[in-house]
Parts: sequence; C-alpha cells; structure tokens
Amino acid sequence: MKRRDFICGAACFLAGIGLSEIRNKLQFSKKPIITKAEDYPYIEDVFTAFTVSLATHCNLNCKGCDTYSPLAGEGEVVTIEQFTKDLIKLKELAPNREFNFAFLGGEPLLNPDVIPILKLKNKLFPNSNSDFLTNGLLLNKMNDDFWQTIKDSNINLCITKYPINIDRTVYEKKAQQYGIEINYAIPESKKLFDINTHKVIAENYNQEGFPWSKNIIDLTGSQDYVEKRYNCPHGGIIHYCRGNIYYCYVHAYIKSFIDYFKVNIPITKDDYIKIEDAKDISEFDKFISTPKPLCRFCKQCHNICYGGNPLEWDFSKREITEWT
Ligand code: SF4
Ligand code: SF4
Repeated sequence: MKRRDFICGAACFLAGIGLSEIRNKLQFSKKPIITKAEDYPYIEDVFTAFTVSLATHCNLNCKGCDTYSPLAGEGEVVTIEQFTKDLIKLKELAPNREFNFAFLGGEPLLNPDVIPILKLKNKLFPNSNSDFLTNGLLLNKMNDDFWQTIKDSNINLCITKYPINIDRTVYEKKAQQYGIEINYAIPESKKLFDINTHKVIAENYNQEGFPWSKNIIDLTGSQDYVEKRYNCPHGGIIHYCRGNIYYCYVHAYIKSFIDYFKVNIPITKDDYIKIEDAKDISEFDKFISTPKPLCRFCKQCHNICYGGNPLEWDFSKREITEWT
C-alpha cells in the first residue's frame, strides 16, 4: 500500500519540500507531560517550508476533498501583488533563511498569476526545493512560458491521476519536450468516471494506488487540541493562504466548509499569523511550535495509514457527511 502523505489527493510529496523536516523537528521522542498550549517549548528555526495555496477552489470536485474545494464556490486566489508583498517581507525578516515551497490548491492552475508567482519564487529563493501539485486537468492548455518556468524553477511536477477519462498524452509530450519528469500520485479506484457526465464508464477499472479517505470534522469541537500537537501527523504542514500562515491545511481551508454549511467553527487569532503584521521571524517559529485551537474540531486526520476513514473515490455531492 502506498503511503499517503499529502493533501489534495496529490499524495506522497511531503518529503520533497522539507515539510517532513518541520514534522521531525516538532516531534517528541516520547509523549511530553504538557497540558497547556503555552507550555509547549519554542523550537527555533522551525519555519523553513510552506505550501502556497494558489486557489481555494477546484475544477474537479472530489468527494471528501481535503481542502473543501467543492464547497469553495469561486474560491480565493492569491494575486502576484499579495504574494510579492508577503515573500519580500519574509525575505526581510529572515534574509539568510532558505524556504522550500509546495504550490497547490484547490487547483493551482486556476490562478491567473501562476507563472509570475513561480518566477518570483525563483528570483527570491533560487535554491529552494519546490513542488507543484495539480490534478492535471488544465495542463494541456498551458503555454510554453509555463513549461519553461517549471523547467527553470527546478520544480517537482506532481500530478494526481484521478480515475477520470482525460487525455494525458498532450501534456506528457510537452513535459518530455522540456525534460521535465512527472511524478504521479494515484488514488486507488475500482471504477473509471467520465469527466463531463460524472457517470461510471468502467466498473472494473481497478486502478491501484493509495487509498482515498477522509478527514473527519468534529462539529462539537470537543477534541483535545493540546494532545493533537503531539500526535497528529499533519500538524506542521504549514500553509500560506490569504496572506496568513496556518499550522495545517484544515485550518487554511476550513472557511469554505464553515461558509457552505453555516456551522459554528470559530477561527481565532491564535489559529493563524498574518505575514504583514509580523515583526520578527521568531514569531512564526513560536506559532508553529504550539497547539492550535482549531484542532478541537478535527477528529481524525484523513490519512488512512494513520487511521483515517476510507472513502471510495467519486465526485462530491456536497453533503456534510463527506467530511464528518
Ligand atoms: S477536488 Fe480538487 S483540490 Fe480537492 S482533492 Fe480533488 S483535485 Fe484535489
Ligand atoms: S486540524 Fe486535524 S489534521 Fe490539522 S493539525 Fe489539527 S488535528 Fe492535525
């Protein structure tokens, strides 16, 4: 069984961008006796990698999507202006710190500024390791500037191969032309679906890969969030979204879930840090080191290998049970 280590169904690329290093630094060799959030030790220089949410919405709509993208409507995209402001600020705060990046969504290719954003990353952090995680649906339409930018960025192109009937030959040829290696993540599925009608077009498709599964939201908010800091494998997957840094993808994207189902899940000022408000880089290290109140609403990390709930891959019907 292939271990699923990442979100957006674009699995298994966590190690590539250094986020696993953050996890390693955050982990304890044995469970600490800490019951208060503020007592967690501050870990220096832990903020060294983050994912960049280029769009909160998506053009695929998978059932139980980790980033709640089927619920995001037109979603939110980061503009080149905002990204420039925030990246320059980080560079000023930590001129010698090298950051690694993963660009994702929702579907990142829905962001009209995707090419200038990647170019900016190259300019400010030329030595960073970067991943670009996409469902591939728009790749056939991307122009030469995009492919050249991916090539110049030394970016790891990670495509999730969903069980849908799309033509992958055009972009595969383009990648080959530019000498870009494609890393596929493959969710397992018994069936093959038509991308337009969403109907099953093959019952015995039997695509092998990592098991699809769901993260479970606890609407009562009664989980022990201090404990989660110790035992959740996804704490420390740092996300950049709306100009803020979040501790986990659930925290970054849950707004779509809250707005769609109109549930009472408060996002407090302790759940994110606004880059433009930061005075010192250590504020981010401290933020990452400590438990976050939003984890009260997360019952189980989605990852089936860590005990998440299995789900057969399908299109979303936008029912709350896909996430609870
Ligand atoms: S709906 Fe989009 S963002 Fe969500 S898992 Fe599917 S491809 Fe990824
Ligand atoms: S929200 Fe859930 S997945 Fe994220 S860090 Fe908290 S417990 Fe882990």
